[in-house]
Amino acid sequence: MKILRTPTAMTAWSRRLRREGVTIGFVPTMGALHDGHRALIRAARLQCDALVVSIFVNPAQFAPTEDLAKYPRPIAKDRALCRTEGVDICFEPGGAAIYPEGFETVVTVPGIAQRWEGEIRPHHFAGVATVVTKLFGMVRPDMAVFGQKDFQQAALVRRMIDDLNLGVALIVYPTVREHDGLAMSSRNIYLSEAERARAPILYKSLQAGAAAIKDGITAGRKIQSMMTQVLRQESAATVDYLAVCDPDSLAPLTSVHDRAVLLGAIRIGTVRLIDNVVVRRPATRGRQKRGCQE
Ligand code: AMP
Repeated sequence: MKILRTPTAMTAWSRRLRREGVTIGFVPTMGALHDGHRALIRAARLQCDALVVSIFVNPAQFAPTEDLAKYPRPIAKDRALCRTEGVDICFEPGGAAIYPEGFETVVTVPGIAQRWEGEIRPHHFAGVATVVTKLFGMVRPDMAVFGQKDFQQAALVRRMIDDLNLGVALIVYPTVREHDGLAMSSRNIYLSEAERARAPILYKSLQAGAAAIKDGITAGRKIQSMMTQVLRQESAATVDYLAVCDPDSLAPLTSVHDRAVLLGAIRIGTVRLIDNVVVRRPATRGRQKRGCQE
């Protein structure tokens, strides 16, 4: 495995391989790699000839009040994981390489970015959209793998790839969870033992929403209130949002017809957790019949 640190070296490598007809896969990360990242890397490895993983803790997607300085950076361990998983290039650009003096372009996807996470973290998605566009420009991948764990981020990247004709095939890989359902995250290490024991409540609440939809409940408000009720069982958790949304636009649904994504964000102590579940309403005989007529 090679370690590259500059956009110039990255693009030169990529150009050379593309000329030879090699397909390039890409997994962008902020490091502190866990089994969720590992699953993305493995999925990408199966789909391409050469694989790039980037490790860049992107300052543009953190607010001044957020945890940029203390974000974990176990680089030796991350490189070892990449090496074990057959990664060809570990791309580790520094901040100055990504945002050199004079840098001013910002990519925004306003419709998707303004909701949910965007409401609570107003600059977050412009930071994500800009850095992903830049990384795509440097790595020139044929395909990229993102995690469903960050559902809104994946929806934004999909929109951006389509709108800007970026020519990257997007794979969204299912969320990898701990044995008790907690979604793996680099931030879980900040949870104290007591907080860690409480953290699965978010997934439990989303599962309760999914079960309600499977049981035939369609009203968005009703489903949302059922999720909130479950979450209230855990007094240590504060809800940022629990929502029943359209999986493409992320607009809230008053009624679930076919598919929905249940999005949730809570705080336990100082740690923020996000998670989501995608649900498809079971087809009833009546609905199947209507579906045939449409
Ligand atoms: P991050 O390093 O947090 O920026 O995440 C890098 C990529 O890994 C993103 O596409 C995330 O959605 C994905 N990811 C993070 N946690 C998980 C998880 N538990 N399961 C699947 N993908 C994940």
